[in-house]
Amino acid sequence: MYEVSQQVRGNNFAKTVVETAIIDLAARSKDVAAFELFGGQIHTSLPIAWTLASGETAKDIEEAKEFLHQKRHNIFKLKIGKGDPFKNVEHVRKIKQAVGDEARITVDVNQAWDEDTANYCIAALEDGGVSMVEQPLPTWNYEGMARLTARFKVPIMADEAANSIQDVFQISKHRAGNCIALKPCKAGGLTQTKKVAGIAEAAGIGLYGGTMIESSLGTAICAQLYATIPEMKFGTEIFGPLLFQDDLTLEPIKFENFEVIIPNGPGFGVEIDHEKVKHFARSL
Ligand SMILES: [Mg+2]
Repeated sequence: MYEVSQQVRGNNFAKTVVETAIIDLAARSKDVAAFELFGGQIHTSLPIAWTLASGETAKDIEEAKEFLHQKRHNIFKLKIGKGDPFKNVEHVRKIKQAVGDEARITVDVNQAWDEDTANYCIAALEDGGVSMVEQPLPTWNYEGMARLTARFKVPIMADEAANSIQDVFQISKHRAGNCIALKPCKAGGLTQTKKVAGIAEAAGIGLYGGTMIESSLGTAICAQLYATIPEMKFGTEIFGPLLFQDDLTLEPIKFENFEVIIPNGPGFGVEIDHEKVKHFARSL
């Protein structure tokens, strides 16, 4: 993969696919789980967040309460980058008020705010008991992220700004966020993601197991890597399979007691359902 990265710039999604296929083969040839190639399994399960996305306060509260009752999720994230920031903040505060201490509420702004809006809205979110604010400012605004991180008690997470090992080194050095979202597809593979996690760990930056809304296969890959990282302070959001209509693997990813169960077994611990792959394949 080093040679590939010397020859090809960017294309991190494609690089991740190629690397995971090689890792799967290597692990299967030794009859071990892929996490054994990344230092071994530390977690057998990890906390799993859910995104409340109906946009209606009453509906989101009902959904949160139902998942709390089912013991499926107790961390809820709201994407609030679209629409009126002040109305969105009120929506989030009402949800937090309704679920109380039973659940953590986080928000993802997806770079949508300028610094003035962020100053006003994060103060209101912090006051409302929100647990984390993800990427409030555009990726280029490292200095603004550093100012927000210094100003507020609520953790400020870098997601779109935290891709490469160099990005995460800069974020760590300038404290442009006090936590980061990991995603193998952002970093360009599992090896790079593990390095990113190491830099963050050394700097005391909190980690979150992010998702690109992957299928059961992509989720197994993320889960196995995240299981090798000592402290996933903010849990994970690898709920992709819960949104998909069908699985590409013979076994579904299991979710129990507010956590995702890390697949175990050779390779990434799942077997591809070749019939399903054929069924969903597009002819060129
Ligand atoms: Mg995000």
